[in-house]
Amino acid sequence: MPKHVAFRGGYRFTNFQGQPENIIEEFFVPNIVRIPLIQGFGSELDCLIKVGDRVFAGQIIARNDQNISSPIHATINGIVSDIRRINYFGQNCAIVTIKGDGSSEYKKIQEKPANWQELSIEDIEEKLYLSGVSALGYSGIPSQFNSSIIKPNEVKNIIVYMSDSDPFNISPELLFSDKSVQNLYDGVIILHKIMPNATVYIATSRNYRNILDGLDDQLNKNDWLKYRYLRSKYPQNHEAMLVQTVLKQKFPYGYSSASIGTIILDFQSVLHVYEAIVESKPLIERTIALCGSAWQKPSIVKVRIGTILDDIVHSRIKDGIKPRFILNNLLMGTELKDLSLPIDRSYSQIIAIPEDTEREFLKFVRLGFRRDSYSRTFISNFLPLFQKEFDTNKHGEERPCISCNYCEEVCPVGIIPHILSKYVKRSIIDETLANLHIYDCIQCGLCSYVCPSKIPLVQHIKEGMEMLTEQGCTRDKCILPHFDNILGIVDSYRGAKEI
Ligand code: SF4
Ligand code: SF4
Repeated sequence: MPKHVAFRGGYRFTNFQGQPENIIEEFFVPNIVRIPLIQGFGSELDCLIKVGDRVFAGQIIARNDQNISSPIHATINGIVSDIRRINYFGQNCAIVTIKGDGSSEYKKIQEKPANWQELSIEDIEEKLYLSGVSALGYSGIPSQFNSSIIKPNEVKNIIVYMSDSDPFNISPELLFSDKSVQNLYDGVIILHKIMPNATVYIATSRNYRNILDGLDDQLNKNDWLKYRYLRSKYPQNHEAMLVQTVLKQKFPYGYSSASIGTIILDFQSVLHVYEAIVESKPLIERTIALCGSAWQKPSIVKVRIGTILDDIVHSRIKDGIKPRFILNNLLMGTELKDLSLPIDRSYSQIIAIPEDTEREFLKFVRLGFRRDSYSRTFISNFLPLFQKEFDTNKHGEERPCISCNYCEEVCPVGIIPHILSKYVKRSIIDETLANLHIYDCIQCGLCSYVCPSKIPLVQHIKEGMEMLTEQGCTRDKCILPHFDNILGIVDSYRGAKEI
């Protein structure tokens, strides 16, 4: 029986409206794509094409073998109509526009792929790199190229995870609906072939156990392959929590798990590994969940990378609703304000929730069928027949702290958010904040979510960190002394800097 692992604190999100339906919709090949030359893990790449060039889907259009990165491809067949620099999520970055000819074919990495089991390790690494798949995961997939901050033989652990801990989740049945689970297993074998010193942990929620039924014999025959059950509580999918629960280790917050020799990939990324090596498919599309109660029909779409957000959003939002769009994670994700930007290879969810700005007097003390509450006193927590709703209303706005301690109970890293918040609000910015482990905060947003007084705790904590850093008390000085035992390892890793 695999071990069931968990961390302290956290919160279980259940029964929310807007879960995606179990159907994958193949999105049309777009007429136009915009492809940023920085995507996922790695730095901006050198552009290899110019305006007026004809390109084909699967062609490498940007590459830089010197800096940590992975090549980027054209994702439709057509003509390059524009190349310009834009502000892309706070980074000044080149973006290539391609006008398509409507055809759906793509060029494989290798036209006549050899049997993957006969490929050498070098060939696998090269194919993975050329496919762009090596950019996936928290720290990229290491190879003989500069695709991660560590080299393949330095990897000690690979965590392959799929949990249902977020407010919205893609079900694995759906991910495997047009693929075999064997593809996941083969993807894991491929990863282990290039990182032979690693133990591979397949970590899933117990609710997903049936997905791997039938693979037991194969899973049991490799002593480098282990299995872990994860509890369904947020923020289990965070890199720091995965390392803590699966490996019983910690690494300095603000650093990458690669700095302790651990690579983390979700199931979809491992399926991309399989497609790149076995089917010679470049990374030109992503499976994305459209979640949240503002969508007419929350669903899963398979889209070409570079598809413009507005092309997906257009005509799919409920009439009369002004939505807020959030990328990948409701509590931690970035708000998508500019819908002329494209999908890139880091997308897994687009969440749309109603932008409710009306104050409802004393809403927080009134019972409701569709409201979530950590206190578990609201009716919806007792009556699971009613699905709960997310919206962006503060419901009466910020009120004084009532010392309920909820924020402290849920904090997965064991710090005391309400104390830190009070220091920051009173402008007491000194070493006390560091002693209260302010830099341990992984900014999961849970404290702000459960607070009945709607205090923006995580915002106060971020401000406190910034002010402390301005005063010269940096994250490194505060964090690294707590990690004396792995300091040498952290120092020895290239690029083991703040991320
Ligand atoms: S203090 Fe930080 S880590 Fe703790 S719950 Fe709040 S945001 Fe999450
Ligand atoms: S959850 Fe909010 S009200 Fe309760 S102790 Fe924390 S800050 Fe205070």
